[in-house]
Amino acid sequence: MLDPLRGETVLTFKMVCILIYMVFIIQLQYHAGLASGLLNQQSLKRSANQMGVSAKRRPKAQPTTLVLPPQYVDDVINRIDRMFPEMSIQLSRPNGTSAMLLVTLGKVLKVIVVMRSLFIDRTIVKGYNENVYTEDGKLDIWSKSNYQVFQKVTDHATTALLHYQLPQMPDVVVRSFMTWLRSYIKLFQAPCQRCGKFLQDGLPPTWRDFRTLEAFHDTCRQ
Ligand SMILES: [Zn+2]
Repeated sequence: MLDPLRGETVLTFKMVCILIYMVFIIQLQYHAGLASGLLNQQSLKRSANQMGVSAKRRPKAQPTTLVLPPQYVDDVINRIDRMFPEMSIQLSRPNGTSAMLLVTLGKVLKVIVVMRSLFIDRTIVKGYNENVYTEDGKLDIWSKSNYQVFQKVTDHATTALLHYQLPQMPDVVVRSFMTWLRSYIKLFQAPCQRCGKFLQDGLPPTWRDFRTLEAFHDTCRQ
């Protein structure tokens, strides 16, 4: 004998059970998704840290993009050269494949840029009128400027190279660095954005903010 009312109740009870089960599964999947997202972030962070550590431990570890064809490097540099009329970039390859750049910024300064493929290894900033060549006519990549102001800018340029790091996009890094460098066209004309003065301890504002490119005295920056 079938009790229709009882049958319905059993059916409803079954359906409620199924519903609860489905909600439970959906929640489980949701949390699993969240968890795996978090885990991915963690592992990304960890691998980034590991990369940092291993890069420090093994300075000779080089990015895979190192083997960019010289023509590609030339093209990137040429494009940057055309971007900024007040900045001229001469590219040479005195030692084979690695490029060296002589950047002349208006009549303010010159910068020797030592490249490794499309990565900037080091830079030396000198005054516009200073000699940038060795006795045998090669770019002098070792001697520093005779002037404190350009020594300071050299130090800041080295810091900038550490700041503009994007291993997968070296062309963006070079362009960002050159854009930052170009702001020194007003090295002797821009007042400090903090104290408002031109000179402090006999030096103009030698620091340029990496984001806003605003001028600050070395001691006035945060
Ligand atoms: Zn200042």
